[in-house]
Amino acid sequence: MLTNHAPTAELQAIDAAHHMHPFTAGAELNAKGARVITRANGVYLTDSDGNEILDGMAGLWCVNIGYGREELADVAAQQMRQLPFYNTFFQTTHIPALTLAKRIAELAPGDLNHVFFNGSGSDANDTNLRMVRHFWAAQGKPEKQVVISRWNGYHGSTMGAASLGGMKGMHAQGGLPIPGIAHINQPDWWSEGGDMTPEEFGIARARELEAKIEEIGADKVAAFIAEPVQGAGGVIVPPDSYWPEINRILAKYDILLIADEVICGFGRTGNWFGSQTMGMTPDIMTTAKGLSSGYAPIGASIVSDRVAQVINEAGDFNHGYTYSAHPVAAAVALENLRILDEEGIVERAGKVTAPYLKAKWEGLGDHPMVGDTKIVGLMASLALTPNKDRRANFAADAGTVGLICRERCFANNLVMRHVGDRMIISPPLVISESEIDLLAERAWKAIDETYQAVREQGLW
Ligand code: PMP
Repeated sequence: MLTNHAPTAELQAIDAAHHMHPFTAGAELNAKGARVITRANGVYLTDSDGNEILDGMAGLWCVNIGYGREELADVAAQQMRQLPFYNTFFQTTHIPALTLAKRIAELAPGDLNHVFFNGSGSDANDTNLRMVRHFWAAQGKPEKQVVISRWNGYHGSTMGAASLGGMKGMHAQGGLPIPGIAHINQPDWWSEGGDMTPEEFGIARARELEAKIEEIGADKVAAFIAEPVQGAGGVIVPPDSYWPEINRILAKYDILLIADEVICGFGRTGNWFGSQTMGMTPDIMTTAKGLSSGYAPIGASIVSDRVAQVINEAGDFNHGYTYSAHPVAAAVALENLRILDEEGIVERAGKVTAPYLKAKWEGLGDHPMVGDTKIVGLMASLALTPNKDRRANFAADAGTVGLICRERCFANNLVMRHVGDRMIISPPLVISESEIDLLAERAWKAIDETYQAVREQGLW
């Protein structure tokens, strides 16, 4: 096994020779060499050259509890010794599965009292797609099959989840979407709102759901799936008018709501779930990431009494994964939830950290190249723009300036991601006030360096 002390170039060469990276242009990366992350603690990553980098993305929006919590490692080791694996397929269960299901049901709002375990967010959404179709079929409505979702939504990378998602670049590879999925436009006022006020635009975009249901026929629509706040799409926060109107429409046509809480769940928006922050009442919630703070791969579909009753009484549900309710992952998740709760991490994130970060984040809006600072809890975005009053785009292709900014962030030891020309953050919930100060300082510097580069390169 290579150690952390191997030279970076050697590690990069092996990586380039054998490791295919997700969402990456392989040849381009292999020529340049990947950054090797060797360890992490709190909100900081360390790379193989010894740089300490402030992780403004909590890994992939998942390390809510922060890095380096020994308790989670101890629980994993103990569980591996006691029962490293057993399945829950054939009329068996185990203690981590049932205990975690109960704990999730306690935390989840309303009548979301039942849990189907998955290995990730993507397979949780595949579960949900099959479950909502089976729900209606089991009640004599096998034609109620279509799931409506949104362009620029993200629901994962499996065939089902990527079809539910609205990422055109993903659809273009592998023959997607699969049949029975329809998309409507997203509530992104900054980019697509034209002359409407945000509130008018929120209503207009919600009514696209009603128009789509009318077009397809309510008797053919099983569910609507959406993230409370779109994450990978660029932390798009819908106008306040959006969710109430969506709720009205779903109730009118008796269509299920799947809230994809893979990012928003477990504290990210300042409450345990984004549905609570945004005023949604889902029939199913998709969760993963923050459930174990990324320390072990696990996803959970959290299901209402109404849906669970139908599924449970409809005979075999012919669906499941070897790693559904994996005991080690479940034990780690349980310990993560204990710490998030007992240390008041979610509560502090909502009441103390989020307002502090909001003030700092909105302060970045003073930069001449920054418009549309948006933040909900501890997920935030800002638009880089040559003219904030006109909500203008740069002359260069979308993403050109965002990429420069991401590189400048890295050069200043900050991980901030870009989606097109939006910069986004989602730091660990445990980030302190002084770490937020540092994040904002580095972000400003990186944006300012980007501003200089954009002017020098004539991209303005
Ligand atoms: N849904 C949402 C909202 C996500 O953000 C993601 C991952 N970024 C997924 C689903 C897919 O989760 P996973 O990568 O664990 O399969």
